[in-house]
Amino acid sequence: MISIQQNLQEVRQRISAAAERCGRDPAEVTLLAVSKTKPASAVEEAVAAGQIAFGENYVQEGVDKIQALAAYPQLVWHFIGPLQSNKSRLVAENFAWCHTVDRLRIATRLNEQRPAGLAPLNVLIQINISDEQSKSGIMLDALPELARQIAQLPRLQLRGLMAIPAPESDYARQLAVCQQMADALAQLKQHYPSVDTLSLGMSDDMDAAIAAGSTMVRIGTAIFGARDYANATHNNN
Ligand SMILES: *Cc1c(COP(=O)(O)O)cnc(C)c1O
Repeated sequence: MISIQQNLQEVRQRISAAAERCGRDPAEVTLLAVSKTKPASAVEEAVAAGQIAFGENYVQEGVDKIQALAAYPQLVWHFIGPLQSNKSRLVAENFAWCHTVDRLRIATRLNEQRPAGLAPLNVLIQINISDEQSKSGIMLDALPELARQIAQLPRLQLRGLMAIPAPESDYARQLAVCQQMADALAQLKQHYPSVDTLSLGMSDDMDAAIAAGSTMVRIGTAIFGARDYANATHNNN
């Protein structure tokens, strides 16, 4: 029997320990609970244990959960999956954050589609930092130009960078990749005062990410248990 409450407590302790080891305040690191494929009832359990920030990968599944949990206005919903143009409106209308902006076309659509009654959509630019297999994210050399364009869109707030590094078991090599992201964030910050977020670190590289300066770690399985994609509702994304 897994207890989401217990899992959350363990993950929070792991974050605190990692932060303290490198002299950081644990409060600087937000835990994003990745609830993809999990039912609204599992999210509700996490909410009861004090969790506020949730990440979803599939647009329609995420929107369904956001609507099912509308009774909890304190929740902050992050879209963290690959985003197709034809799904951008649902993200603009329902989420508070989008971590996967990697081209101007998507940014422009999100900007146009963000409802006037909502605060600007918080966006992170996804960087392809080490994964040659992945088509998601931009190379670091393309960052200054995309950031400059996004900063001009009034319905978006550029908050920082996100990456999904290629799996790597060696801590020193994890740290080197995470450090590249932290350096890129530091440079971006110099130009854009709204930048304060580095979404970096999952179960296997969380310690290195926090040591490098991550401000948001994305954890799913360690909180909610293994995912069963057969039961997921994301097939039509
Ligand atoms: C699924 C996912 C996570 C969480 O992965 P777990 O292995 O379940 O902790 C984090 N970030 C992104 C972008 C994801 O898609």
